[in-house]
Amino acid sequence: MKTAPSTELAHEVIQSIVTLTEQRDQRSLEHSLLTSLGEMLESAEGWLLDIPAEPEASVEGILLHGREATLPQRIIELGCALPRSDSHRLIDLEDRRYLLAKLQDAERDRLHLLVLAQADWSETEQQVVQGMIRVYQNFVSLLYDSEKDTLTGLYNRRKLETKLANFTGSRPQGRRQRDRGHADYLAILDLDRFKRINDTFGHLIGDEVLLVFANIMRRTLRDSDLIFRYGGEEFVALLPETAKDSIDDVLERIRRNVETHEFPLVGKVTVSIGFACLDGLTSPLNVMAKADRALYYAKDHGRNQVREFEQLVNQHLLEDLHRDGSIELF
Ligand code: GH3
Ligand code: MG
Ligand code: MG
Repeated sequence: MKTAPSTELAHEVIQSIVTLTEQRDQRSLEHSLLTSLGEMLESAEGWLLDIPAEPEASVEGILLHGREATLPQRIIELGCALPRSDSHRLIDLEDRRYLLAKLQDAERDRLHLLVLAQADWSETEQQVVQGMIRVYQNFVSLLYDSEKDTLTGLYNRRKLETKLANFTGSRPQGRRQRDRGHADYLAILDLDRFKRINDTFGHLIGDEVLLVFANIMRRTLRDSDLIFRYGGEEFVALLPETAKDSIDDVLERIRRNVETHEFPLVGKVTVSIGFACLDGLTSPLNVMAKADRALYYAKDHGRNQVREFEQLVNQHLLEDLHRDGSIELF
């Protein structure tokens, strides 16, 4: 760190916090943290390592930033072995002191390790780094909370909007061409006659039904599927890379698991589901509109059923108004 007057240091720290808190995803937050620390610690070198959660896979980190050739393998090993309770540690190796700090992933399924190396570390430098890491960590938690629905713990509507806006499909174009057996799907799930449940049993019991329903979805879908609470009793599921001949079964399984579940006090609850294919040609928002129309078809034709937009169009039960360039519903 520069032997600068304390006002200059304070200015640098504040500037770093400003830049850090401008970031909106964890990857760029990490990058910003590393860049800021790099600017403050002029003679230091920095790395960011991605360490898998399973102990047997954690021998080697993946370099995210920095110059691999100069990071000793021994430091990677010590970093991986850093106990959970230790937030950071200084390690002397050859003629350098390495500061190792764990950056907890918001989802808590990965661990990122920050490594900074320089000849020596003053007390102030250690305090600044520790402080910056705490700011980073608090902000990661804040970002994580802002994407979650507080009742069900599922992703919220805001996260869905970001996800759809950035949706590019789960497979590169080339593979998409060849792999005709799989596709990405979007489903909208809406509990049937939910208002009646609220009116009969009260909002708290209604909330309990939403929670149980969320858990049924979690249990039924794969880890790679994303589930969002879109509105009150409306949910969206994004199912990437799903075998075309299995998508019906998957969603039908949710419908059946809800129908056969004995909800405390309420008894039987049913759900209607509409879905459509994220084909990479239609904008995700238009796919959402397709799934919504399939859902409303299900609602209009008896509820407690799963309907696919493309199939309804093929059967001439719905008209396809959503080709890009025709109409945009949102
Ligand atoms: P349909 O089968 O056509 O979907 O009928 P419905 O009654 O489920 O649909 P409607 O849209 O008429 O009513 C949805 C109800 O969901 C209205 C509202 O009271 C309730 N609701 C919305 N958000 C919440 C919530 O967070 N908790 C509870 N308990 N109820 C909610
Ligand atoms: Mg409903
Ligand atoms: Mg509804």
